[in-house]
Amino acid sequence: MSNFVWCHGPSCHKSHTQDRIRGVKGSKVLRTKKVQQTQYNSGERLSMYSYFCSQGCYNDFANTYVREVIAIAPRTEALETPIEVTKVQDTYWNNQTYMRTEIKTVDN
Ligand SMILES: [Zn+2]
Repeated sequence: MSNFVWCHGPSCHKSHTQDRIRGVKGSKVLRTKKVQQTQYNSGERLSMYSYFCSQGCYNDFANTYVREVIAIAPRTEALETPIEVTKVQDTYWNNQTYMRTEIKTVDN
């Protein structure tokens, strides 16, 4: 049994690719692609690739529905991660020294 969902890309059925062509001569259509549900994109591995056939279709969906998507978890203030910043002397491939900034996350 085939287990799939239709790609949620709002323009998936408008892409001119051979694998979207369906129907018989005289009444052919471009059809939304199927997204197979496999062990790699379902269950624990559920991701955008469970619902979209491509990065392009995902971007089309996200750009079309960005207001609705943001409304799910709006960010009203900045988040912060406590860190410690130290300067560390390091060496290039030619043994010339330089100072680099090292950032470590501080657990609270
Ligand atoms: Zn698609």
